[in-house]
Amino acid sequence: MNSRQRNVKPLTHGTSGIDGLLRTDRKAPWRNYAHTLVRYENRHLPTGDIDGIPVEQAEQLLANLGVDARWISVVHACQGAIVPSEHLPLMPDAKPEYDRNLREWVQILHNRRMCAITWYPLCYNHAAAEKHPDWRQEFLVPPPEGNIHHEFACCINSPYGRAVKNFILESLQKYDLDGVYFDGSSLTPVWEKPFPVSCVCPHCREKFRDETGLETPTKLDWTSPEFRRWVQWRYDMFSAYWQELTDAIHAAVPEAAVIFNHYHRERIPWVGAVPLKSFGRNFLRGTEADSQPLRGMFYTRCMRAAGKEGTEVWMNINPHGHINTPAGPKHNVKPVLDFMLACAAAGGHAATGCGTPAIEWPTLQRLADALGPFRAYLDLPSVPHAALHVSQQTDTFVFGRNPGVTTDANWTDHYWASLVGWADAIAMAGRYCDVVYDDHLTLTKLKKFPLLIMPLAPALAKKQWNTVLQYVRTGGTLVTGPWFGVCDEWGEPRGEPLGGREIFPFGSEFPTFEELDSRKERGLREKTLPLDWNSRHLIRRAKMAKGEIIQLSLDVGTLFRHSSSPLVVSAVAELLETLPRPCAEPVSEELLLTGVFQKNRRTVAVHLQPCTSPWPSKKQPNTHQPIRGILLRWNGNKPKLARCATPTPGPGLPIRKRGKHWRIELPPLPPHGMVILIEQ
Ligand SMILES: [Zn+2]
Repeated sequence: MNSRQRNVKPLTHGTSGIDGLLRTDRKAPWRNYAHTLVRYENRHLPTGDIDGIPVEQAEQLLANLGVDARWISVVHACQGAIVPSEHLPLMPDAKPEYDRNLREWVQILHNRRMCAITWYPLCYNHAAAEKHPDWRQEFLVPPPEGNIHHEFACCINSPYGRAVKNFILESLQKYDLDGVYFDGSSLTPVWEKPFPVSCVCPHCREKFRDETGLETPTKLDWTSPEFRRWVQWRYDMFSAYWQELTDAIHAAVPEAAVIFNHYHRERIPWVGAVPLKSFGRNFLRGTEADSQPLRGMFYTRCMRAAGKEGTEVWMNINPHGHINTPAGPKHNVKPVLDFMLACAAAGGHAATGCGTPAIEWPTLQRLADALGPFRAYLDLPSVPHAALHVSQQTDTFVFGRNPGVTTDANWTDHYWASLVGWADAIAMAGRYCDVVYDDHLTLTKLKKFPLLIMPLAPALAKKQWNTVLQYVRTGGTLVTGPWFGVCDEWGEPRGEPLGGREIFPFGSEFPTFEELDSRKERGLREKTLPLDWNSRHLIRRAKMAKGEIIQLSLDVGTLFRHSSSPLVVSAVAELLETLPRPCAEPVSEELLLTGVFQKNRRTVAVHLQPCTSPWPSKKQPNTHQPIRGILLRWNGNKPKLARCATPTPGPGLPIRKRGKHWRIELPPLPPHGMVILIEQ
């Protein structure tokens, strides 16, 4: 598409065609943030220009480059409101013209059919904390020396909580905004380590007492049931506030998009009070990739499991800095491109931000071009195959006890290292997996997945344990690591093991954190690789009625997270070869990300994406070379038709029988991946 054509939005934008584009009211489909594809954050103050370019020209440029959703803001970072409101104080440097400029800015975006949402850092407002000291959070574990966030961390249980709600409602209506992105939606400031723990202000104490009859703890004490109850209450209380905000926004502006940044991921533990579970309704699930492009895939899967609504993972447009060239600094588009495509391969949306008009903006067009073909294949239901268990119980009540969380800035997040390592190794082995949380451990849910991977699951309620074993007896396959079920759901060690040592021979007692830290160090040095699946010291396979339990004595995810060794990927691929297979899988020497989705009742959409390896490799994807010779293995009945859907719809592909399965010959895989439709 040339640049002249780009000035006109395609008539098929969204779901509505020309009628939808002519509309400008809130029901206009292009104003629905959930359906947008290229989401760009640049929250410049409404001074009338962006980096010296008048706003009108800058936004015209962004629209031409393919951006269809913009994050702007009614606040300036954590400084406070930039426009007058009776609900929240104005930040000191706010200018009177910001109010008019912001209205005009939204109008400019709407004139170009771009969706406009505001950013707001949920728990952080300097002007509010200054004016209302009683709105400030109080800490059970104080922030480290020099930490500044505690100076403006406000408590949502103080009158601040209602003030934010009213301020956002007012902003959405006054400026005709299409939604709100709640960043900073972590109860405790998580940006400086070691982590502090909040909030024990009088408002929180009173609420905790009213709701539980208990007094707020005065110190960290994981052996105390009251303390653990308080930790659980923080999750429940904070997520209830998210819902209250969402419902209030939708009561006033039903069409508004509400997105929260889900601050519970690698290196952000329980202190943020964001639950690791399926919770809430009517808001989009956002999170961040922490500058790791491949993380877009796993975190999209985590967010898909957290709720039925759409997902979004954010990454800085330039995570690893500029490339210096003789002609000056240049944008390295590859990491952000890899990231957005990894989100798409997991069926979710991506957002990016920061960057300058001079360096990063021109490459936005490449992102728009790469993502465009996948628009119709996002947000589809996954074809259930493998489920990776992500456990709040284990994360919080076992690994959360690590004293390093609140004392050591370099604390190792052992639990998420395992999860991330497993997710990445499975992805690089060409397989895909959905995520299940603790509350998904029901027989009805688990039966959808032939394969259940619970890498580290020391914290299990007896009922959950029984459910998992019943899942196996009825035909499921369980892969797990050491210490399976050695604690109860509150992380308390069990006196008596729940099962026989012949089924779970590895790890009868959860180790100390010193031991875990030294294992990590040792694991890096030791020659544990290559893994030998014939070793009874490494793996024990036990048939149980119609299913099978496979326990590993070492955690493969941790090994991959700390080694990035291709030998771990080979070992995982080798193990997966002996386990139930998904309906579709690529056959190739290349690293390929796979997503398999139900397009409609008869059609499965298989998303294949070249993947950049974490180890040095001569070949890297997204250069410009298509990958030849890829076969798609189809493990179901003979398909009626297999054809490419992207980058352009293609003719029927050759399908050949090979043993008990089918092999589909694919055309060369483009650098930005493809979707193949299999009709049955
Ligand atoms: Zn409080």
